[in-house]
Amino acid sequence: MKIGVLAVQGNFREHGAMLRRLGADVVEVRKPEQVDDLDGLVVPGGESTTFMRLMRLYGLDEAVQRFGGPVFGTCAGMIVLDRRHLGLMDLEVDRNAYGRQVASFEADLILQGEVDPLRGVFIRAPRLRDRGADVEVLAEHDGEPVLLREGRFLVAAFHPELTEDTRVHELFLDGVREAMSVRA
Ligand code: GLN
Repeated sequence: MKIGVLAVQGNFREHGAMLRRLGADVVEVRKPEQVDDLDGLVVPGGESTTFMRLMRLYGLDEAVQRFGGPVFGTCAGMIVLDRRHLGLMDLEVDRNAYGRQVASFEADLILQGEVDPLRGVFIRAPRLRDRGADVEVLAEHDGEPVLLREGRFLVAAFHPELTEDTRVHELFLDGVREAMSVRA
């Protein structure tokens, strides 16, 4: 499984380390042509404004829009995939929408179909404003959807790469395996 992690800015190293632990071949993506032969792509957290600027500069915006495989976005990566940015997912996200006092926090989340809570690390996290009918909610915090899936897209408002819990990345890799077996 060859997984690309966009490495223009942000938490790409942490994603890479976790994906390697789960047995994936990890490529740090900095050039558009690197996207072509990937089985899956991660858009990490960081700062979405900087992210968009650097992606446009290197032509990575179009490369990501062209990529047809599973995509996993975390935090700023969730913002980048929404209607107002790359327009790949049918959702709209507000940046930094948690108040100053709670700008960054941790909370236990229950994943759909699971019993053990997952520790969610939220860092100036985005908040969902609107979603289309095909967007599934896989976890909530205080009634707010924080883990969502729409077909081949998976997004988290929190940072699963910053804990030891590998379940969200496993969920992504399950989707990658499924897409590969359909293709084969
Ligand atoms: N606040 C950041 C933004 O607006 C996202 C935060 C993160 O990725 N940790 O892009």
